[in-house]
Amino acid sequence: MKIDCHIHSFRSGDSVNRPKTIIHMAHKKDLAIAITDHNTNRAWKEMNSLGRTGKVKVIQGEEIMTFDEKKIGGELIGLFMNEYVKPGNYLEVIDSLREQDAFITVPHPFDFLRSNFSYLKTEFKKIDAVEVFNSRCYSDSFNSKAKAFALAHNLPVTAGSDAHFPEEIGNAFIELPKAFSLEDARKMMKKNLVKVSGKRSSLMVHVKTFFAKKGFFKPKNY
Ligand SMILES: [Zn+2]
Repeated sequence: MKIDCHIHSFRSGDSVNRPKTIIHMAHKKDLAIAITDHNTNRAWKEMNSLGRTGKVKVIQGEEIMTFDEKKIGGELIGLFMNEYVKPGNYLEVIDSLREQDAFITVPHPFDFLRSNFSYLKTEFKKIDAVEVFNSRCYSDSFNSKAKAFALAHNLPVTAGSDAHFPEEIGNAFIELPKAFSLEDARKMMKKNLVKVSGKRSSLMVHVKTFFAKKGFFKPKNY
C-alpha cells in the first residue's frame, strides 16, 4: 500500500481540490490518502463515502494550528482521527488527539517559511512521527533535516504531497509493502516499517495557492 499522508481539499480555503477529484487522482495513482485540511474536518464525510465507492482508502486527518500563550506554535497533523480538534494550545491539541487515539505527525518541521511546529526539539516524545518528505518544501534541505531528526531521535516517519491542487497528489507518499488495510498501515507506521518516496512540487503551486486564498478557482456547487 502507498499512502499520501497529507492532502488538502477546498475546505481548507487555500486549496481547490474537490473531494471527487482527490479520489479520482488517488485511484489513478493507486494511492491510499489522508485528508488533512487546515483546522477542519468538513470534507471527511464526503471523502469517506466517495472513497468507499471509488475503492480508495481514506484516512481521516486534520492539520491543526497550535499556540502557546499567544504565540503561534506551528502545525500538527492528526491521522486516524474520529473527531474534529480545534486549534489551540499545543499541549491541549496533543491531548485531544491522544484521547481519540490519533497518530500525531509533525508536518514540514524544519521549513521555517511555513508554520512549522516550534516545540519539536523539546516535545518530540509527545508525538508519534515526523513528516520527512513534504513536496511543498521550498528547499530539499528542510526535508533532509527532518529525516536526520527522525533518525537521531528514533522517530517513525510520514510523507505527503501537501497537495492543494490536483496535479500535486501523490508527489510524496509512504510505502507499506505488507499492509492490506488501514489498520495494518497504522501498525506499520507506528513501527516505522515504511519506505518514503517523494519529489518536490513545482514552485508554481505556491503562486497558485496565493490566488486560491484570494478566492480564485473556487469550486462551484458547494
Ligand atoms: Zn498542509
